[in-house]
Order: sequence, then structure tokens, then C-alpha cells
Amino acid sequence: GYRSRAAYKLKQLDEDAGLFGPGNTVVDLGAAPGGWLEVAAERVGDHGKVVGVDLQRIKDVDAHTVTTIKGDMTVDETKAALKERVGDSGADVVLSDMAPNMTGEYNLDHARSVYLARQAFEVAMELLGTGGDLAVKVFEGQDLKALEDDMKNEFRYVRRIKPDASRDSSSELYLVGKHYLTAPVRSGD
Ligand code: SAM
Repeated sequence: GYRSRAAYKLKQLDEDAGLFGPGNTVVDLGAAPGGWLEVAAERVGDHGKVVGVDLQRIKDVDAHTVTTIKGDMTVDETKAALKERVGDSGADVVLSDMAPNMTGEYNLDHARSVYLARQAFEVAMELLGTGGDLAVKVFEGQDLKALEDDMKNEFRYVRRIKPDASRDSSSELYLVGKHYLTAPVRSGD
């Protein structure tokens, strides 16, 4: 079994949208306790690389391909550490399951979730190579469409996917951007 039920959401996202391949480099934002890291490690195999980031410390995952960073993805220092860890060849897949602490106030929780999703989107544009994929969690609400439209400018297509394991948390879904269109020319290239 996996260390979180969230693992089954990622399995379904991968089945629906075809995210991973053997040898891929995967970035997982909001990775604690680590269920997605376990699934990603299985999918990328021995020649892949998986980097997880979370505010919380993540217990070691039993795969030599997985490393983690403890940090806040809304601060530059963490983004820089992540870029360094991923390295010059960039990432094939960026995942974000980041979620804000819930207040129960629908609009506030939505706004905070969109803010976190946009952090993931920005980092994805810096890390992904052309053809890379982004899957990001977001709570439904008024700002979802604008985020989706911004992603549509950067990916060949964007899908909304609500895994069965997300049914109980009614407002949560994933935006999946397939095939990043224009990776920037990075310094050092
Ligand atoms: N996908 C994970 C798994 O399979 O175990 C579950 C992730 S959990 C739903 C959401 C995580 O997002 C929490 O562990 C939380 O600490 C993290 N998170 C929220 N805001 C964050 C931020 N600004 N930077 C990094 N992680 C953050």
C-alpha cells in the first residue's frame, strides 16, 4: 500500500492523461506525506528522478531516485533550491497537490488554492522542457477559468480531471496541461 490515499488520485490522473514515462524527471510540489512520490518513483523506474517539496518534512521514500526539499514554494529560496536539484536538463513532469490550510470560508480557500496553483504553474514554466506536462490541484471557484485560460496559452491542451478519490472533497479538481509549448532558452544552455 501507499502512505497516503492521495496516491490513488495520481494513479488515476496518470491513467487518464498519460503523465509519466520510464526515465522521466518529475517534480512533486506539496509532496508530504509522500504517496505521490511513491507512485512517481514506480512509474519513472530506476533511471528516473523524482524531487518532492513540502513545508513538512517528508519521511524517506524507499527508492534511490527520490529526494526531497523542506521548504515553502511561495518563497524564492525554495524555488532556487528546487531548480538546482532538478538540474540543467529540466523536468518532464511537474505535479502539484499543494493545498492551503482550510478555513471553511469558500472564497478564501479557493483564492489561496489558486495562488498555490499559480506558484506551481510559474515554476513549471521554468523547469519543464518543451513537451512536458503539468498537473495541478485547484479548488473550484471564480478564478479557476482565468488560471485554466492562462495554462491554455502555454500547453497544447488543458483538461480538468476529477479523480474518483476526490469525489468526497467536492470542490477539488486537477488542471492537466499536456505538452508545454515553448521552453525558455535557459542560461547555461
Ligand atoms: N500528494 C501528497 C501525497 O500523496 O502524500 C499529499 C499532499 S497534501 C494534500 C498537501 C500538501 O501541500 C501538504 O503537505 C502541505 O504541507 C503542502 N503545502 C501547502 N502549501 C505549501 C507551500 N506553500 N509550499 C510547499 N508545500 C505546501
